[in-house]
Amino acid sequence: MKIYLSIIPFFLLSIATVKSQEIPSLDWDALQETKPWEATESYDPIPAKVTPGIFSFPPSDATILFEGNHLDAWQKPQYIYEGANLDILKAMIKNDDPNYDHAAADWIVKDGACIVKQGAGAIETKEAFGSIQLHLEFLSPVDAGKEGQSYSNSGVFLMGLYEVQILNSYENSTYSNGQAGSVYKQHIPLVNASRPPGEWQSYDIIFNAPVFSTYGKLKSPATVTVLHNGVLIQNNVELRGPTVYIGEPSYTPHAAELPLRLQDHGDAVRYRNIWVRRL
Ligand code: MG
Repeated sequence: MKIYLSIIPFFLLSIATVKSQEIPSLDWDALQETKPWEATESYDPIPAKVTPGIFSFPPSDATILFEGNHLDAWQKPQYIYEGANLDILKAMIKNDDPNYDHAAADWIVKDGACIVKQGAGAIETKEAFGSIQLHLEFLSPVDAGKEGQSYSNSGVFLMGLYEVQILNSYENSTYSNGQAGSVYKQHIPLVNASRPPGEWQSYDIIFNAPVFSTYGKLKSPATVTVLHNGVLIQNNVELRGPTVYIGEPSYTPHAAELPLRLQDHGDAVRYRNIWVRRL
């Protein structure tokens, strides 16, 4: 009881002290001598100066992958992997030959756009990439007879393995985790920001590549952020593994950098203004 009695007056005194406490002020003239704010100023590194793009034009430090007149940055892949299942994917990764003599990309280049050549298979970049910022524009041709997954299906395969779906999802229903802007069969887009067929649309994608230990163990999964026509539709979501059409995804170790791939799903989807920045 003695202890309690001694605490109470002190407690009341504390309240009184808090109530009457003034907001401290700084003596700016005196501080000019020591400049304590400099201790928390960081000058290293200096961010590289970049000229921002105007509208859809690429920024000055971008690698241009397609600007409208040729497919020199692209080739045919050794294997047409489009997410069938995990066993096929693993075999393709295992058999991947770095000295494989790739054929030239043969999609159609017309009117400033690159058009999927139906039946020709995917195209991939000659250059390999890991983590990237990617911009591309695409157009679903008007085709009233098509529906669901068959209406303007293509896809951006990051590292050739992780698909951000391209589809006409403007008044064309399909499974949510397979519509435009889905991380195919893994993440449903936050909103449907699709424009109608016949209009150009854009994806801005920030992709962080997965990291594997030297023994092939997953250290950190891939993550992706997607803006569709400037609207956030995937917010730094974690991928569960490469895209698979059948079965559940899971990681299998692969190279730190791999080509970016565009899918031929049998529809004459158009692409333009494709550029990438390494992260
Ligand atoms: Mg697709």
